[in-house]
Amino acid sequence: MLRVEEFVALFEWTYTFMFVAITDDKTCDLCMKFDKMIVNGADIERMFPYATQVDYTLWMVNLHPHCRCMLVLLEIGF
Ligand SMILES: [Zn+2]
Repeated sequence: MLRVEEFVALFEWTYTFMFVAITDDKTCDLCMKFDKMIVNGADIERMFPYATQVDYTLWMVNLHPHCRCMLVLLEIGF
């Protein structure tokens, strides 16, 4: 039984992620600017070199210390 990420690699599906900032009075300007931005899955590691993958649906961006922003899977395309 293949896992979803293996299917994606096999058929070269593309992941689309949305940048989700936790917006409150502690959110920095940079993260505020990125909020709701759509990112291609292949671009994540290039754009956010400190991002860590939680699972195939979720990355923690780690843009700065104590960053709470996430990249959430929006769509799997063909
Ligand atoms: Zn942040």
